[in-house]
Parts: sequence; structure tokens; C-alpha cells
Amino acid sequence: MIREKLANLIFPEITKTLSDLEKEYPPRTLKAGAEVTRFAPSPTGFLHTGSLFTAMVAKTCAVQSEGVFFVRLEDTDTKREVEGAGESLLKEMKLFDVFPHEGYMGNKEEGKYGPYKQSERADIYKTVIKQMIKDDMAYPCFCTSHDLNALRATQEANKVVPGYYGAYATCSFLSAEEAIKRVENGDPYVLRFRSKGNHDRKITFNDVIKGQIEIAENDQHIVILKSDGLPTYHFAHVVDDHFMRTTLVTRGEEWISSVPLHLELFNTLKFNTPRYAHLPVINKLDNGNKRKLSKRKDKEAAVTYFLDLGYPVKAILTYLMSIANSNFEEWWTGNKRADLSAFDFNLSKMSVDGALFDLEKVNYFAREYIAALTAQEVVDEYIDYLKYIDDKELLTRITNDRERFTKIMNIERETLKPRKDYSHYALVYDSINFFYADEFQKLIDDQTIEPFKEELSKETVEKLLNDFATKLIYSEGNEAWFNSLKEVALSNGFAQNNKEFKANPEGYKGVVADVAEVLRISVVGSRKSPNLYEVLLILGRDEVLRRLSIIKSLIQ
Ligand code: GLU
Repeated sequence: MIREKLANLIFPEITKTLSDLEKEYPPRTLKAGAEVTRFAPSPTGFLHTGSLFTAMVAKTCAVQSEGVFFVRLEDTDTKREVEGAGESLLKEMKLFDVFPHEGYMGNKEEGKYGPYKQSERADIYKTVIKQMIKDDMAYPCFCTSHDLNALRATQEANKVVPGYYGAYATCSFLSAEEAIKRVENGDPYVLRFRSKGNHDRKITFNDVIKGQIEIAENDQHIVILKSDGLPTYHFAHVVDDHFMRTTLVTRGEEWISSVPLHLELFNTLKFNTPRYAHLPVINKLDNGNKRKLSKRKDKEAAVTYFLDLGYPVKAILTYLMSIANSNFEEWWTGNKRADLSAFDFNLSKMSVDGALFDLEKVNYFAREYIAALTAQEVVDEYIDYLKYIDDKELLTRITNDRERFTKIMNIERETLKPRKDYSHYALVYDSINFFYADEFQKLIDDQTIEPFKEELSKETVEKLLNDFATKLIYSEGNEAWFNSLKEVALSNGFAQNNKEFKANPEGYKGVVADVAEVLRISVVGSRKSPNLYEVLLILGRDEVLRRLSIIKSLIQ
């Protein structure tokens, strides 16, 4: 009775009971084997690439088992909260196709197991703690920060494990009467969990990814409710995962050391324990050393890095899948255009050691992805990208002549070996801007057009330019055009192929490739371009002639 008095004194406003909560948040009616998974970010900044990985894994497990994936915002650390971070996290999750089925959705919440923001669940936590106080599983602790500092100093001096436990858990020895007196007296307090654990004993648990893990029991009397009335992560996630009926917790492996505490909390409260799957950390090689992908040091740690450069979302997810499941890449090789959900994802195929983040591999998947699209699809995605980065000028330029731009994007696409030059859409415009007359003019005005080979005399170039204007055949296909180019080469003293040239190097000014280069530089402005014949067709005869005459006037 005396503990009931203490519980009522601390939480006079709480009238609900644990069984009310059980009724309010009943077990879900899902088919057998359906997983309820969640992603539980703290609103402290952008979506980290590692968090995207975690969210993707959680959602995949739910989708494949026809379960539910929800988001819970873990916003109890008000000091670290960044204004608007929750909303932007969800926006990024939407863009990356890991938007939840239920829960916190940024501008709204959906689902019967809410609220899904921890800061709005205070009464639920208090209801649970009120019962814990009655059952002597929790108690008020009046230690000041001064007391705790002194405790730490003593423990350091005695070289014992630091913390609030066993004989060091001073307030755990207060009687309920004493506690009542101090609460009535207005002494500030937090609420702590009364651990029954013994650090010298071990527990074992089965991690879905890492298998059996043996680890020391918890004996820490952790704070479960802070003086601001909000819970700590350890306690809150236990209550939430129970009342949100989570079946599978997928989270970073940095939480493994807290599992004994979490299991003790679940057991003390007689809640069913969800299964835990601790995901490997995503590392990066830094001067030969492995370290965690870091928010501060690595640009690719923020998913916005990829969005800003226009990496296709599916390519990023494909990459993350390849580090999630060792057999994924083999599947993907035969199913490049398939939906990723068609892959039979399996947590047991997850690598146990940390994965290494490899930007080159991301680029590889991205190039493969873009190369497999039709020109129309590329144009659609490029336009979406321009909208995303809000480049109105370029958007107008592309949409004003979408048909021609589609032709440009189709160069060397519908072939057995399509070009794999784009890993992200930010690369597109600079590689094809020469198609636009004003950009070509800019190259001329800025004198950034590439020079012709030094060995070629002015007269030779001039003669070639004249012949390009009059002797090339465009309308009969690539081969006929190339034959006409070879004719021009021969009549100007160039060998038609390398073999001829090598047999008699003195007898020629060069080879047909040198002639093609003069033409390419004259219409593109550079030695490099996609298939020249296709470029010429898209530019059209008039524009080709116009450019040839500009170049001719320049070499005069
Ligand atoms: N808020 C915790 C984090 O951001 C969630 C961990 C969990 O998924 O339980 O790391």
C-alpha cells in the first residue's frame, strides 16, 4: 500500500493502468510470420546513408513477410533535436522509397498504435512506470549531479565499473516512506529502474544476424524517466516496441551492449521480447584504416549528397542491397530491370562484419542502371532531377525541345552494349551541351575549343573542312557516311586504315581517325563525343555547315 501511495504521489494525473494500455493497443491481426518492423530515428539531422540502409532492411523484412513497417520519432533528447529534422527525414525516406506504411510521416501520423512521436507518449510511459513503482521495479532517485560526480570519482579511484548499481545505487536503499517524505518536501528526482541483475553472470541471446551472443547481465539502475518528464531511449523503446507490437527490431550493432538491459526490462515488465537483428556498421576505408562512415567527414554519409548529384534512387538501393545480402549481386545480374522487392532478401545472408562503403561500386550500379533505361525514361528522370535541384533555366531548355533532347539521350543506347557514361544526372548536361548553338558559340568566344593536331597544316585542315561540307553522305546510314569519310581521307592524303598507314607511314598525312577528329572538333569543340555520325544527324545539315564555316573563318 505504501508503494501505491508513492506511485500516486508521483503520478497523481495518471489514471490508466497497464491493462488499459494492453486493451488500447491489442496484438495485431496479421497472418502468421508477418513481421512488424520499425525505423526509429532521432530528429537530429539529415538522413544518414547508414540509416537509409537500416530503414531499407526494416521495410524489406516487413514487405516480404506481408507485415507492417512503421516509423517512430525518438525525440526525447530535446537538447539534440534539430528543428524540422523529422519532416525532412521523412521527405528523404519518401524519395528513397522507404516511406513507412504506418506511424510518423512528417506532416501527419497514420495508424492505431500511436502517437508515434515519443514526446507525445509521456502518459503511456508514466502509466507503465506508475505500475513499476507499485511493484517496486522503479524508484525515485534524489542524487544530485554533485552526488553522481562524487560517486564516479570514488569508483574511478577504486577501479570498479562506473555507474549506479548494487551498493552504489544509494537511493535504491531508501524506504518508500523516506521517498514519500522527500517527494513531498519538493526534492528534485528522476526515476530509476531497480535492476535485479548481476554483472558477474552471463546471459545468452540469439541475434537474428549474429547468432548466439553471450554477454554479461545488466545490473545498472538506469534512469527511466528524466526530470523533464521524458523517458530515456532504453526504457522508451521497450514500452513502444511492446505497445506498437513490433516483432523484429532491426537496428545498428552499437546497441548490442545494451541488449542485457533491454531484455531485463522486457522480462521485468512481462512483455514478449521482439527478435533483435543487429545490422553491421557501414565503414569506410580511410588511409587504409576502417572507420565508421562519418557525418562530419564523409560527404556520402548524407543521402542528400546522392540526391543533389542526381544519382538514381534505385541504383543507391541496389548498392545497399548488394552490401546487405551476399547473394544479391548474382540475382541482380540476371534481373537488372526487376523491382528490388522481387529479390528474396534474407537476414541470415547479412554479412556479420561491417560493410565497406565503396563509392566506385555505387557508380557502377548507377551506370548500369541508367544504361538499361530507354531514352524516354532517362529524359523523365533527368527532368525530375532538374525539378529537384530547381534549375529552371535548364528545365525550360530541355522541355522546350524534348524530342531532340530524347534523341540526344538515345545516342548509342539501343545497342547491345549501350554507353555507360552516366552514373548521375549532374553529369549529363556538360557532356552534351555542345548540341546547343549558344553553348558552342561560348566555346568559340572563350577560345576553349580544342586545337587540331599540330602536324596538320592550316591548308590541310581548310581543305578537309571544305570537303566535309560538300562530300559527306548523311542520308544512307552510318556505313555509307563512314565510307564517304574514308574517301575524303584518301583524297586528302590520309590512309583509310591503320594497316595501310603502318605499311607506309611516310606516304600519308595520317589516318582516317585523324580526319574524323578534325570533323569532331569542328562540330563538337572537343576530341571526345558520343558516336559522331549520330551527333551529326541530330545537329542537322544546316547546323553542321554553319559550324564548319565558323571554324574555317577562325583558322584564316
Ligand atoms: N533512436 C535510436 C537511434 O537512432 C533507435 C535505435 C532503435 O532502432 O531502436 O539509434
